Amino acid sequence: MIHGEIHQNVRQYINGRWETSATTGVSANPSDTSEVVAEYARADRRQVESAIRAAADAFSHWSHSTPQRRADVLDRIGTELLARKDELGLLLAREVGKTLPEAVAEAARAGQVFKFFAGEALRGGGENMASLRAGVQVDVTREPVGVAGLITPWNSPLAVPATKIAPALAHGNCVVFKPAELVPACGWTLAEIISRAALPAGVFNLVMGSGREAGQALVDSPLVDALSFTGSARNGERILQAVAARRAKVQLEMGGKNALVVLADADIDHAVDCAVQGAYFSNGQRCTASSRLIVEAAVHDAFVSRLRERLKALKIGHALERGVDVGPLVDEERLARSLAWVGIAREEGAEHVWGGEPLQRATAGHYMSPALFLAQPGHRIAREEIFGPLACVLRAADYDEALALCNDTPSGLSAGICTNSLKHAMHFRRHAEVGMTMVNLPTAGVDFHAPFGGRKGSGYGPREQGRHAAEFYTTVKTGYMLA
Ligand code: NAD
Repeated sequence: MIHGEIHQNVRQYINGRWETSATTGVSANPSDTSEVVAEYARADRRQVESAIRAAADAFSHWSHSTPQRRADVLDRIGTELLARKDELGLLLAREVGKTLPEAVAEAARAGQVFKFFAGEALRGGGENMASLRAGVQVDVTREPVGVAGLITPWNSPLAVPATKIAPALAHGNCVVFKPAELVPACGWTLAEIISRAALPAGVFNLVMGSGREAGQALVDSPLVDALSFTGSARNGERILQAVAARRAKVQLEMGGKNALVVLADADIDHAVDCAVQGAYFSNGQRCTASSRLIVEAAVHDAFVSRLRERLKALKIGHALERGVDVGPLVDEERLARSLAWVGIAREEGAEHVWGGEPLQRATAGHYMSPALFLAQPGHRIAREEIFGPLACVLRAADYDEALALCNDTPSGLSAGICTNSLKHAMHFRRHAEVGMTMVNLPTAGVDFHAPFGGRKGSGYGPREQGRHAAEFYTTVKTGYMLA
């Protein structure tokens, strides 16, 4: 069904039924554009509205289901995802161009996320407080919010949806899930597994289609009580205005301009590893990618020359080929955009160190060599999210300047430091203006059970993942009772 075959009739899942749509689209393999991965139905506004109504109708029942029931459903989904991780990883690699080991790891992570939230459904629990008044008892409980609209990007098409769907269901909400247009096969496969997990009709719905029509219908609907969006800052800002205006809950996970600081006392080879991993793996198509490498002057030249050697040795090719370090970019448009950034870097006077060329391979795909520039803090390549395989090095006189550069950005998702100084590591953890800090680790790569999210322009609303997910997917009720 999956490898080498078209997914015929990949359809919407609405109110427990598979539905076609008036229009269809296709997704292609970015490693070999002659291969179609999926043909999918594109939902219009009316279909999305019917999915939302189904979710709203299912809520009174599902929100009162027992924790054991919810745990069993999530556990079953997690078990199947884990059992099929190789096959699902293969599909993901074909649809997005991540290398096979990365793609399999993502499929496994999606399974682990469902397993974790199976446990969360059982853990639940609230708080008891002593009242200020004699004989009165106070307790604080959490209740599901209602219909959760979940809008996801293409770059982690199993893990990001799992990170939203699993806590939404675990905490008793009903779901309308809209994956990105580039990854219908991944979205559909996840939905197909969920559809066989003994959920009542309407509790989980899949709508595939454009952001402008299908996504916007979720944003606009007064029946959507909580909207969780992961994607670009531009779309996130608009969604925030619309959802907040109708006083629904909203959670945004957006882009970053993440910095990796390298101090003179760091293990330079390890710092180069962190930079290669963080900036170039998955072609930098990660919200936590380190696109700014801020290096202390004393080791600047040594760091740049070792990084250049590592980039030369990276193997760029077909995502399914053994030994490939980095696959293709996801589509023609993103390749063109990344190449345009190389042009911008040159025009604004950044010094070219390596790469930034389109590459030909045996199959027609969106291949590009990883690009490295030496930049000034005011350059656009040092300020704007690129979401491609381009990073820049900024020189810092010392730790204080490095930290100031790190924080000199409107975004604040992840920041890393490579150092052997406990003093600087501790100071950095406290003073980096981000949601996540990394010491001697790449800026990308996080645990699924710890809170995930950013500050400043990178995020809005409660954190995702782990126990903290309850903040968004539940509402708090305080009860007083005269005993
Ligand atoms: P995007 O904003 O183009 O699309 C994200 C999703 O929003 C898609 O499903 C799209 O169809 C939908 N959408 C677009 N316009 C919409 C609208 N008007 N109303 C409702 N939905 C709409 O982002 P993308 O190109 O898919 O993903 C790349 C971006 O995502 C990058 O900026 C990256 O940093 C960010 N990202 C962030 C995180 C994080 O957790 N912080 C994780 C992954 C990706």
